[in-house]
Amino acid sequence: MKPLNQKPISVTDLRVVCDNMLVALSKKLRLHGIDSVHLEQYENQGNCITLATDPESKRMILTKSPAHFIQLKKSVPPGHCLHIVSQVVEEQVEEVLRYFNVTVSEDDYFSRCTVCNGSKYLTMNAEEARALKVAMTPSETVSYGVDDDDDDEYGHNPYDIGAVSGPPSQQRSSVWKQYPGGSVYTTSGCIRETGVVLQLSAVADGIFEKINEFFCCVRCGKVFWQGSHWDKVKKK
Ligand SMILES: [Zn+2]
Repeated sequence: MKPLNQKPISVTDLRVVCDNMLVALSKKLRLHGIDSVHLEQYENQGNCITLATDPESKRMILTKSPAHFIQLKKSVPPGHCLHIVSQVVEEQVEEVLRYFNVTVSEDDYFSRCTVCNGSKYLTMNAEEARALKVAMTPSETVSYGVDDDDDDEYGHNPYDIGAVSGPPSQQRSSVWKQYPGGSVYTTSGCIRETGVVLQLSAVADGIFEKINEFFCCVRCGKVFWQGSHWDKVKKK
């Protein structure tokens, strides 16, 4: 298929909306730094048009369905809707990059969060990340999934991670700590800008021994690092 753009464009020049059959592609495009949103399973395909014609974002439509392609392309400027043919996500990415003539640079990879499409990261080193994880951990030992006794009305609330318990001597002070990209409330792990909690509990302690730089998505709190998966993507 003839590319829409004669001259190559950069990753930041493309914004897309994927139909709900292309969720994996949407996430993969984010991995390449492309601003991508997708419809949820329950959403009507027509919502693609709403997102594509929003003057704020002006997204190109990507659809897997030939029938939807015929319908959707009537509502957008010529060429602004692409019918994705391949079943393989890596090939689908190639279809998009070829059609829109996108050049992906080294710096574009991981410039967007694959989970939420956010593009702002807060960075911290291993020592800071480990200290924050410890500060965020409730001071009393909490067993999850071990005690199934439903009668335990006085059990700890695992979601109340900001709570400080125990005698005053064990209480830790909470402060806003500044990192490149944003600040975090030390005991709750709450990011000041968005109010979301950093997902440091999902990072195994052993990772802090191997990795020194952590990238935390300001929008959703997901924590990333340059691990094997990251390197694999960059080599492509
Ligand atoms: Zn995110």
